Amino acid sequence: MSGGLPPNATIGIVGGGQLGRMSAMAAARLGYRCHILCPEPESPAALVSAGVTLGDYEDPAALRDFALHCDVITFEFENVSAEGLDLLASLRPVRPSPAVLRISQDRIIEKSSVNRVGVPTAPWAPVETLAELRAAVAQVGLPAILKTTRMGYDGRGQARLERPEDLEPAFARLLPRPLILEGVVDFACEISVICARGRGGAYAAFDVVENRHRDHILDLSFAPARISEATAARAQAIARSIAEAVDLVGLLAVEMFVNAKGEVLVNEIAPRPHNSGHWTIDACPASQFELHIRAVAGLPLPPATRHADAVMKNLVGPEEMALWPAILATPGLIPHLYGKTETRPGRKMGHVTRLFPHGGLPGDFGVAAAMAPLATGG
Ligand code: AMP
Repeated sequence: MSGGLPPNATIGIVGGGQLGRMSAMAAARLGYRCHILCPEPESPAALVSAGVTLGDYEDPAALRDFALHCDVITFEFENVSAEGLDLLASLRPVRPSPAVLRISQDRIIEKSSVNRVGVPTAPWAPVETLAELRAAVAQVGLPAILKTTRMGYDGRGQARLERPEDLEPAFARLLPRPLILEGVVDFACEISVICARGRGGAYAAFDVVENRHRDHILDLSFAPARISEATAARAQAIARSIAEAVDLVGLLAVEMFVNAKGEVLVNEIAPRPHNSGHWTIDACPASQFELHIRAVAGLPLPPATRHADAVMKNLVGPEEMALWPAILATPGLIPHLYGKTETRPGRKMGHVTRLFPHGGLPGDFGVAAAMAPLATGG
């Protein structure tokens, strides 16, 4: 595969969600087929792909069947067991490598790996017992956030500790252990960098994005982030140093906090397309999904340039889905729906992008006006 995966080859994607769907759509445009591994029928990714293996991520028979349909395998979902990853990697090339996935699967390994390359995070400590939690709180201070180390996303598996009496109930509720205690970062803003690295070490990174969450779920992304050039350069350097340290082949999203002093701290990393990069579909010649597929397929990586500024708003749950007809009727809003048949509170159903002239991203008031009928304030 020295010249890259040939047209009509099959890329396997572990996971059937919207990240897989948009990756498969980018792959189709490059002449590839995708084969999805996912337990649920009619998953967003399978609905736009050539094939699907319906099965559990831990089932060796399903993993084997899936691998045999694919020329190369990638992920939109990180939580496959170590044994499952090893099985896939014994059958087909897996990109990013299982070693990279293992880092991102476990918050303790993730934070240690990031700190090892000299990149700061919130203060943290591993917690196996209640006594260790008390010692960790003495070290990190309150408020703090207690998190499960694996399988957490969108704020699930987390408890905020404000007072000493919060420790015991949070410790009892959060499973499995070990847990991780993190000091709360009093952040000025949250940002992310999405970068791609090819097999020969070729590298491309999108501009830094500013992210706002609501109820622990990403609500809005602004591209570019409204931060100083020095802070943006620091964030870019951090993303690159992590991508190189883990010898990434694929896509990596690095979520970071900027504190009041302008320091940049890493929150977490994800070696896959990321919600904060959805705007790249509409604002860039090559989106994060195209870069993902190109890196995985061994194709050349184009620069991650942007022809517009952009705001992306997620459509979450029934209230925002109710706005769909109004969104469709509003010129300038670029609608994306993921094909999920069931709407539930907190579920990401789609997103909307609005482009602005390069350098013309307005302030919050202008963004709110431009995104109507969607509410972007508060
Ligand atoms: P996570 O699941 O770690 O990505 O956390 C989800 C969101 O919770 C982050 O995007 C932040 O808004 C918030 N959060 C998580 N960890 C911290 C922390 N140590 N300090 C402040 N806010 C945090």
